[in-house]
Amino acid sequence: MKKVSCNLCGSNNYVLIDSHKNDKYFPPDVEVKTVVCKNCSLVYRNPQPTKRELFDFYSHSYRKDLPTKKYITSSNIINKERLEWFNSHVKLRCGKILDVGCSTGNFLNLCKSKGWETYGIEPTIEYAKFGREKYKLNIQSRFLEDARFQKSFFDVITLFQVLEHSRNPTKVLLQLKNWLKPNGLIYITVPNILKPDKIELAKYFAGPHLFFFSPNTLSLLFKKTGFEIVALEEIKYYVRIIGKKRGKIGKINFDKEGDDYKKIMRNLKWRYTYLIPKLLYLKVVKLIKKLIILFFGEAMGDKIINFLKQSLFRKIKTGK
Ligand SMILES: [Zn+2]
Repeated sequence: MKKVSCNLCGSNNYVLIDSHKNDKYFPPDVEVKTVVCKNCSLVYRNPQPTKRELFDFYSHSYRKDLPTKKYITSSNIINKERLEWFNSHVKLRCGKILDVGCSTGNFLNLCKSKGWETYGIEPTIEYAKFGREKYKLNIQSRFLEDARFQKSFFDVITLFQVLEHSRNPTKVLLQLKNWLKPNGLIYITVPNILKPDKIELAKYFAGPHLFFFSPNTLSLLFKKTGFEIVALEEIKYYVRIIGKKRGKIGKINFDKEGDDYKKIMRNLKWRYTYLIPKLLYLKVVKLIKKLIILFFGEAMGDKIINFLKQSLFRKIKTGK
């Protein structure tokens, strides 16, 4: 693990927002710390794993089992929608496409059926092999930083839930920009820190992600690396964005434009206020459940508890 500066603005002025141990995605006993940059609002792990630590993890430990039928069916639905959204914003209908972190290659397989010339990179060896054998795709099992392609080669590069795993998002976008043709497109989805998919933020910060983007910090990263935003949308717990390669690299006033620091802290407030005395809270919830069942009987009690879980508690926790 190694200390780092903010990948977006370079500042070292940050606030610690989460710290936990025994995370199965990190070496045992490592204190996993998450910070928010006070200058530009980027949320990131600090310290971060070294290249070697990440390589060992993604090559062998991250995904151990081959994809199930259920996984393939659900990813086919997601990928169809992903391509439809892309097509609704972009005129281009075929060309050369690279999917970075392509998993078993389901998205590429769909693109191939629509006439695209497809390329993939996937560090999990078994997944890359699966895509090569089942779909006859061109997938390299390696890390992005070790991949080699010609300059100005691709029309489109996609990264679905990948950028948040990388050690250096700025470097990644600059490397990909180099492989894109002039006016080439980059299409990215990442989890949205402003709409976390876990009610308990303690669980949200457990896991393999090294960066936690908001629509604004992702937009600033695009601007910084020379991509013009073609489309941006917040969908469920994610942000999706399409950018067009531009020659010039934008100048950014990070302390003024990175303005979602307050929003992020507000989102985290629930955790500070209620989650730290978590044990006490869980005991109270357990007691309330018992009382409801005692009073209304098991069947009716369960219905009431489920209703409270789905509506009331969610509202309290997420503030929506
Ligand atoms: Zn920053």
